[in-house]
Amino acid sequence: ADVAMLAARSAEPYVRVYDHAADPHRPERLSLMGDLKEAIEQDALNLAYQPKLDPRTGQVVGAEALVRWSHPRRGFVPPDTFIPLAEETGAIRHLTRWGLGRALRQSAAWTAAGHDLRMSVNLSVRDLGDDSLPGRINALLEEVGLTADRLILEITESAIMGEPEAAIAMLRRLADGGVDLSIDDFGVGQSSFAYLRRLPVREIKIDRSFIQALVETPQDQAIVRSIIKLGHDLGYKVTAEGVEDGAALALLAEMGCDLAQGYYIARPLMPGAFTDFLASHAAG
Ligand code: C2E
Ligand code: CA
Ligand code: CA
Ligand code: CA
Repeated sequence: ADVAMLAARSAEPYVRVYDHAADPHRPERLSLMGDLKEAIEQDALNLAYQPKLDPRTGQVVGAEALVRWSHPRRGFVPPDTFIPLAEETGAIRHLTRWGLGRALRQSAAWTAAGHDLRMSVNLSVRDLGDDSLPGRINALLEEVGLTADRLILEITESAIMGEPEAAIAMLRRLADGGVDLSIDDFGVGQSSFAYLRRLPVREIKIDRSFIQALVETPQDQAIVRSIIKLGHDLGYKVTAEGVEDGAALALLAEMGCDLAQGYYIARPLMPGAFTDFLASHAAG
């Protein structure tokens, strides 16, 4: 009952309405959300960091922070399972605040160790309604001693298109604070070029569904080439995600893609392993 209360209290008026009574998984979902809240409060979540690489120079230029939850009884719970739930209950705002703090402290530590990296953090649709977010981010940056240009915020097309005017207003506030914005999963949402040109965006990330079979699929090559051209014409950096083999990485380099991310380069890594990866990369 307490768990249900917590979830209900943090739910906000514009949360997507679904038929609670008809959902047979409701008790389980609520207990999972109670556990998530506890995990956030107890700082029991972790972030894994996936390197972002310049495919032409092989240089690691950044990292994307991805949350990892090892549940005391259920074991590993994938973000695709709990992030949508956290969006429904509003717990996502706590998760985002926690993630920004953890990622920026890690980023400051790598910077102090002499690495020149930019940190990417994912925002969700509900974060775009959080008026306190720009102020919190700037306070956090100051606290850890990083300039705003070290931080990139990733947001999906579909998150923006839900309430585009509100999203644009929030993204402008964030960009005015000096943070860079990135459009995630580009190509699979209903992208609207009318909105795209009004967004203060610096980067687009081509969805991995276009990258996975790139080498053997001429249609995907045509799409990826077009997205790279469009992105560059609009002044954006273009990142490909989901690069799983060397041939795709070489092809992306040839196409002029600015950055690449994927299992072929490295899986998301715990901080120690990421530091080792940086060292082996610099040596190699
Ligand atoms: P995303 O932002 O598109 O993140 C990329 C996902 O692709 C990650 O899954 C990553 O592990 C996976 N990936 C990376 N390289 C490859 C590859 O070569 N092949 C394949 N098949 N997959 C690859 P992950 O960590 O399970 O995260 C899934 C989604 O959950 C993310 O998709 C993002 O939407 C969300 N997410 C993860 N962490 C956070 C977070 O801290 N905050 C928010 N709001 N969302 C998060
Ligand atoms: Ca992302
Ligand atoms: Ca993505
Ligand atoms: Ca995704």
